[in-house]
Amino acid sequence: MTPIEPLRRTYTHARQAFLAAADDVGAEVTTDVHPLDGPAGEELAVDVAWTGPRAAQRVLLVVSATHGVEGFAGSALQSHWLAHHVVDQPDDVAVVHVHAFNPYGFAWVRRVNEDNVDLNRNFVDWDHPPPTNADYGRLADALVPERWDDESRGAAVRVLAEATAEFGMAGMQQVVSGGQYDHPTGIFYGGAGPVWSHRWLRGWAADTLSGVAHLGVVDLHTGLGPWGHGELISHEHAGSPGYQRATAWWDEVRSQLDGESVSASLTGDWLGVVGQLAPNAEITAAALEFGTVDTLTVLDALRADAWLHAHGDPRSPDATEIRAQLRAAFADDDPAWLEALWERFAWVAERALTNLTDVRTPSTR
Ligand SMILES: [Zn+2]
Repeated sequence: MTPIEPLRRTYTHARQAFLAAADDVGAEVTTDVHPLDGPAGEELAVDVAWTGPRAAQRVLLVVSATHGVEGFAGSALQSHWLAHHVVDQPDDVAVVHVHAFNPYGFAWVRRVNEDNVDLNRNFVDWDHPPPTNADYGRLADALVPERWDDESRGAAVRVLAEATAEFGMAGMQQVVSGGQYDHPTGIFYGGAGPVWSHRWLRGWAADTLSGVAHLGVVDLHTGLGPWGHGELISHEHAGSPGYQRATAWWDEVRSQLDGESVSASLTGDWLGVVGQLAPNAEITAAALEFGTVDTLTVLDALRADAWLHAHGDPRSPDATEIRAQLRAAFADDDPAWLEALWERFAWVAERALTNLTDVRTPSTR
């Protein structure tokens, strides 16, 4: 077995490795360029590598960087799969890698996108007013203060400790990270309408997924759970047919809707609309969430990042330090961490391919 290569230092290095690996195996690559540039003026894009039959009715879709910075790990897993495992894929299944679903966040080392939007809070039904989260509003100034210094951070710690005593740890996670639509410079902000990556996904899926009968989806994330552990998170209620299929494929998945997961219960995650993206498919989908550091360290990094982009200067020396803090919260350069991720991802992908191959009857949906 070839060991997985270390995490790349930048989005562009990760992108180059992905495109080179895709090219080496003759994948069909499509690129959609993002309207903005990266911090060094580099091009940003969503790149899709299609391996296996173009007209396959059975497809495994692997997505990285829904949360920008989390793409360091996701991209490494995709590139390693392309470089070493395409030969193992069944003949009648296509494996499709969406690289850097949120390329701006990846390049700028942010979890959010160019609009400070958390892409997995943006897929609400925009024909109706977005959900309200009044408790977040009470904490908004403490979470992202105007100044990021010892005094303001100390004051914030007291406010957040009081709120934690009131809501409890799980309640606090829900208030802070469940999503909010009223504070555009805050954290876990869901936006005011469909953002670029959201619109891209709907357009791409309409062009590519309508003929698919059986779709497996693995959306790669980092930043929650024990170090190196990969939890499969379902966007569906426990006991629903999709959840039961996911459990049959992968032995154990946890419903974020029902509070089984390390994640808060979400509104607006993209997996929540996956049925609209592939309307003729039977879909078995999960987020694969790998742990890094503890929750408070992750939260501190997210608050610093939100402050930097709301009140600081993303091109100042402060920014370098905060970006390093963000990267460390969502990507670990320890080879043992990445090896653990690879082992888990390879198992998840192989189980998905086995189950997609074993499907005999046509979809009855
Ligand atoms: Zn994530």
